[in-house]
Amino acid sequence: MIRIGVVTSGGDAPGMNAAIRAVVRRGIYLGIEIFGIQRGFLGLVNGEIIKMNLGSVADIIHRGGTILHTARCDEFKTEEGQIKALRNLEEYNIDGLVVVGGDGSIRGAYELGNKGFPVIAVPGTIDNDVPCTDYSIGFDTAVNTVIEVINKVRDTATSHERTFIVEVMGKNSGWIALEAGLAGGAESILVPEIQYDIEQVCNKLIRGHKRGKLHSIIIVAEGSGKGFEIGEAVKAKTGFETRVTVLGHIQRGGVPTAKDRIIASLLGAEAVNLLVQGKENIMVGIKGREVNFTDLDRIINEKKEFDFKIYQLADSLSI
Ligand code: ATP
Repeated sequence: MIRIGVVTSGGDAPGMNAAIRAVVRRGIYLGIEIFGIQRGFLGLVNGEIIKMNLGSVADIIHRGGTILHTARCDEFKTEEGQIKALRNLEEYNIDGLVVVGGDGSIRGAYELGNKGFPVIAVPGTIDNDVPCTDYSIGFDTAVNTVIEVINKVRDTATSHERTFIVEVMGKNSGWIALEAGLAGGAESILVPEIQYDIEQVCNKLIRGHKRGKLHSIIIVAEGSGKGFEIGEAVKAKTGFETRVTVLGHIQRGGVPTAKDRIIASLLGAEAVNLLVQGKENIMVGIKGREVNFTDLDRIINEKKEFDFKIYQLADSLSI
């Protein structure tokens, strides 16, 4: 293995730059040439490939986004697209590829692996919906971004004695809502993994109000309902003033937390180690403080388990 490529794909996530830096620096440390593929699988299909050196990853560990850019690429989902990508990898004499991205990107990595090209996947998505890893790169920063907003919303919610609905990202995954809800002390956490009952949500608000609670916060993952509709429903059932904040893309940006940078450094460097050892078609993830390894065919066939214990804990602490 003398030439390795690195690509960031799917939605950008804070910490992807730290992962790119780790791949480049570990590779160069081991005497390997590293190539950056720009714009995700789109750049792989179109041959947007650049040589990386120590300087190309200087001063990026603290920056959100990805210096290689990212994109969604439907062409890569087709056989022809994947063959074009393989031809480009061959043209640059690249022997192995590190793919940093979410479940879709890991599926793309699996397809390349299936065609005989050595790949290692690194989970990078704020959604934290990749199975067989506790965390994916970007999740911790996104949760902290939501917490910052909840802290601010609490001030105004208390002053005006209002109920706030905060809608966060997570079409199929309630992880951001879950952890931000627990850490932010939300009254209710609505996630796609659990059916909610608006009556119960409202009864909790009413109980709190009777006890003299000055504000309430409901956190909603976008996959479990629209914040504005939930706000209307709560107002109709309780008569309380509601306000809705939809966070959207601010959750994707920002300075990555130390935790995200550390995870990205560990996983990026380990991905290079694996390729150098001749390993392929594996995802490198994190369990506790340990790096772990899972075959890509398992990753694409499994769903990440939701943490019901944490959900129940948050529920029991917000009675
Ligand atoms: P996020 O979780 O942040 O949305 P993601 O990696 O899941 O990130 P997707 O848009 O699902 O984002 O996937 C990124 C890219 O991976 C797609 O644009 C496509 O190029 C590739 N991809 C997704 N699914 C497949 C598939 N089944 N086969 C081949 N490539 C795929």
